[in-house]
Amino acid sequence: MIIQPKVREFICTTAHPKGCEEHVKRQIDYVKKNEKIEGFQRVLVIGGSTGYGLATRIAATYTYGAKTLSIMFEKPPTEKRTATPGWYNTVAFEKMAKKDGYYAASLNGDAFSKEMKDKTIAKIKEELGQVDLVVYSLAAPRRTTADGTTYKSTLKTVKESFTNKSLDLRDNTVSMATIPPANHEEIQSTIKVMGGEDWKDWIDALVQADVLGDHAVTLAYSYIGPKLTYPVYYEGTIGLAKEHLYQSSKELNEQYQEKGLKAYISVNKALVTQASAAIPIVPLYMAVLYRTMKDEGLHEGCIEQMVRLFREKLQDQVAQVDELGMIRLDDYEMRADIQEKVMESWDRIHSDNVKELADIDGYWEDFYHMFGFHFDHIDYEEDIPLV
Ligand code: NAD
Repeated sequence: MIIQPKVREFICTTAHPKGCEEHVKRQIDYVKKNEKIEGFQRVLVIGGSTGYGLATRIAATYTYGAKTLSIMFEKPPTEKRTATPGWYNTVAFEKMAKKDGYYAASLNGDAFSKEMKDKTIAKIKEELGQVDLVVYSLAAPRRTTADGTTYKSTLKTVKESFTNKSLDLRDNTVSMATIPPANHEEIQSTIKVMGGEDWKDWIDALVQADVLGDHAVTLAYSYIGPKLTYPVYYEGTIGLAKEHLYQSSKELNEQYQEKGLKAYISVNKALVTQASAAIPIVPLYMAVLYRTMKDEGLHEGCIEQMVRLFREKLQDQVAQVDELGMIRLDDYEMRADIQEKVMESWDRIHSDNVKELADIDGYWEDFYHMFGFHFDHIDYEEDIPLV
């Protein structure tokens, strides 16, 4: 099949295996530029096939020489459809890591399920013994719990509706978007999906099975962002779920104090991923932020963020944290001078100057790269067998 992108607003329904391989290779090459350092050796990444989780896995492998086990929820290819990008990324990563002499294994299935936790534990017992770093990097639209109830996550405000500028992803124009408030059930469901309950279930299960080493570390990823996006993010449904995630980190630290476990929230930078592209208003903010941070020479992608995490913010069990105990990889994004410039542009931006004030090309480049498209030297006319 000749694989071309099929884009509908914030999603692309095709992915290119060779392009995804290139995307992974570039990230590996970036990490390899630095000398290896000592650090975690057996790493479990829950949600390790795309975005921040994939970058975590790549950074851990090539920074520490770690063995990685990734849990993902991806679709393999069929005769008619390409696989999801996370599938191709994982195939590519495992191939390259193994060639470089590193252990890399992956399990595909629903991380929320007990079955997947059992499978993971069995795999760790058989092949790794224990793990010493567990990274929780799930971004999921829904979760089915043990009693069969399915909860959906919603990206809405929690008080009144919120209207602001937004990028129309169909034609790159700026228009006004209104985000309605969620009802009580939507709020609770979002917390159920994106809060910390399942993270805690994972840690409990790993401890009970004795596959989590003493003095291990667990990380979960979060986002705060500027006041501008507070109604839709920090103070919205997703923000409440992230607050729950933060409270869960405190509970984990208390519960497993004797085991020497450290649970941290890492607040990461806003970046185009499959999860973030779906949040209203945020894509325009990201495009303005990209322009500002690139102009200042401060822009980072997922891999740069994760390398900085492992090289600068976390040494063994000790992390550099803020007054609330959180690791701040959004430190450059939140710098006062950066936010001031972003807000200046935000106030002035409209359809006619959007290409000047926002990095629309950079936004779309990241978007297409996520699905393996728009890489210069890949032949997109090549007929590729899907299975
Ligand atoms: P992503 O969509 O790229 O990655 C999501 C990962 O979760 C994938 O590996 C996917 O396979 C996996 N997944 C989803 N549902 C699953 C399930 N049921 N079972 C197993 N695996 C499942 O998203 P991302 O942006 O990298 O987000 C990862 C985390 O980082 C999230 O917690 C997100 O809130 C956080 N974060 C993202 C940003 C950003 O701007 N993208 C910023 C800060 C924090």
